[in-house]
Amino acid sequence: TYILAIESSCDDTAAAVLLNDKTLSNVVAGQAVHKQYGGVVPELASRAHQQNIVPVVHEALRLANVKKEDLAAIAFTSGPGLMGSLLVGTSFAKSLAMGLNIPLIDVNHMQAHILAHFIEEENYSKPTFPFLAMTISGGHTQIVKVSNYFEMEVLGQTIDDAVGEAFDKSAKILGLPYPGGPLIDKYAKLGNPKAYKFTKPKVDGLNFSFSGFKTAVLYFYQREIAKDPQFVTNNLNDICASIQYTIVEILMDKIKKAVKETGIKQVAIGGGVSANSGIRDALKTAEGKYGWKTYIPKFEYTTDNAAMIGIVGYLKYSAENLENTGFKETRVMAQSRLKL
Ligand code: ATP
Ligand code: FE
Repeated sequence: TYILAIESSCDDTAAAVLLNDKTLSNVVAGQAVHKQYGGVVPELASRAHQQNIVPVVHEALRLANVKKEDLAAIAFTSGPGLMGSLLVGTSFAKSLAMGLNIPLIDVNHMQAHILAHFIEEENYSKPTFPFLAMTISGGHTQIVKVSNYFEMEVLGQTIDDAVGEAFDKSAKILGLPYPGGPLIDKYAKLGNPKAYKFTKPKVDGLNFSFSGFKTAVLYFYQREIAKDPQFVTNNLNDICASIQYTIVEILMDKIKKAVKETGIKQVAIGGGVSANSGIRDALKTAEGKYGWKTYIPKFEYTTDNAAMIGIVGYLKYSAENLENTGFKETRVMAQSRLKL
């Protein structure tokens, strides 16, 4: 079964073709236009999706060597995301599915970040149910209990900024370009994580908060720069290492708590921030120290991509027996058990 998947929830226009649970192509067109604004501008994102969607889908089909007539279904991101951006992918997917007379499968973006772990890959062992998923990205910070492909429950999430924003906004304060997360990671590797101390927010339960942390970084910067205009230039590695250390501690404190409360010792991560070397090291350490099993998918499946939409499409296609149904919009039964 060939499935075409389309993702356009934020600022990446992405298309993928899957053969059952295997990726044949996974194309992502980023949008450079936002860089100069230091963040995503929704109106510009929608316009860029309009320009990119046709070439990106063509490229995905070409790389997969699949003709559109061979597709069994089309999966697309129905939310959450920016409305204008979502509309581009949604209208395109719907029209193409109608034209080809094949089923149209709507996919929840956060569920897709989690089920990306089930894309068939050589040398990747998949998590088994139940497991805990931590989705950490520029727009989300969630801990989810995953009981089944379609049965998941959010145990905790951010009450303000996402963890990726904490990285990016801290980087912006230090004068680094957007997105600054990867740069903080790069400099952090060369610095002392205990050089400076930032207080951690106190938030109930398994929820997160990062807005206070961002303010702490700003005040720290203003205080030090007033004393020494060269402070950031001279101490960049130590500052980045200390910021990263604190953010990783905040994440690890909560995931440890989640493991303790649920008794589930499998932790799977997703979202762009899972590329961070600090969180990867901390999870590795936890494997040895607490006997957890941790799962980190290939980088191209952690950031926004369409292959993760495709795997959910395939799982729903199978669960719903959508073979030979012709055009049909699914609101799969399973979605109702999803508390995302
Ligand atoms: P969504 O929340 O919908 O997934 P997004 O596009 O912001 O949206 P991703 O593409 O998954 O999310 O992730 C981007 C975020 O990941 C940015 O905030 C970026 O700074 C951060 N990031 C990427 N690599 C690293 C890294 N090595 N260390 C820290 N942060 C990183
Ligand atoms: Fe995402």
